[in-house]
Amino acid sequence: MLIADSIQKRYPTRGDDLVILRSVSLKMAPGDSIAVMGPSGCGKSTLLNILGTLDQPSGGNLTIDESDPFSMSEPELARFRNRRIGFVFQDHHLMPQCSALENVLLPTLVSDDGGDGLARARDLLDAVGLAERVDHMPAELSGGERQRVAVARALINRPAVVLADEPTGNLDRTTGESVGALLAGLPGRQDVILIVVTHSERLARRFDRIFDLADGALNSR
Ligand code: ADP
Ligand code: MG
Repeated sequence: MLIADSIQKRYPTRGDDLVILRSVSLKMAPGDSIAVMGPSGCGKSTLLNILGTLDQPSGGNLTIDESDPFSMSEPELARFRNRRIGFVFQDHHLMPQCSALENVLLPTLVSDDGGDGLARARDLLDAVGLAERVDHMPAELSGGERQRVAVARALINRPAVVLADEPTGNLDRTTGESVGALLAGLPGRQDVILIVVTHSERLARRFDRIFDLADGALNSR
């Protein structure tokens, strides 16, 4: 389960605090998927970064799999994030000097994966349609293929939560559609909590529920 309770994010300024997230509450179970929409600057990435434990909230509570990530020590939190959370960003964030297969394997280098990482990475690249591209470098892949590698990498440690921040934002419409379809049909989807930030209504409709982030809170459509 992922439970966000009254999450706030404020930035101090010389005058009043800048309030980005006023009160965000959300409860999701494995297999649940949502889209988060809203205009540029409304706080979508801020919210995703907090749910992904990359950024600290100013108030409220986050529980993932019955753990409070923000009460953990830095090394505990890093380990928790590596094992429990998968990220897909707008830019693929692949390592340019590593092949597709090596990029998918990177998160397993710091998590003791029990030794099945290599077989699993190959299976995931197969599942995202890149069986013939495992040894390609990122520069040798198209934009859509790079995002597919990023999706496989996000899944390699069997995360409880997958967070995607405008994953099709840099792709043309057709390529975006196919990466969107891939996300909506993630391998192991029934075990994963999936949160996708997008400006695309078409992509948003692929998920269970659509929320608008407005005035620092999530409103269900
Ligand atoms: P979105 O992803 O919806 O486009 P963001 O979450 O990136 O929006 O940003 C939300 C708001 O938070 C923006 O107005 C941005 O300027 C502000 N913001 C982000 N980081 C900081 C920071 N470190 N200090 C002050 N304001 C910030
Ligand atoms: Mg953003």
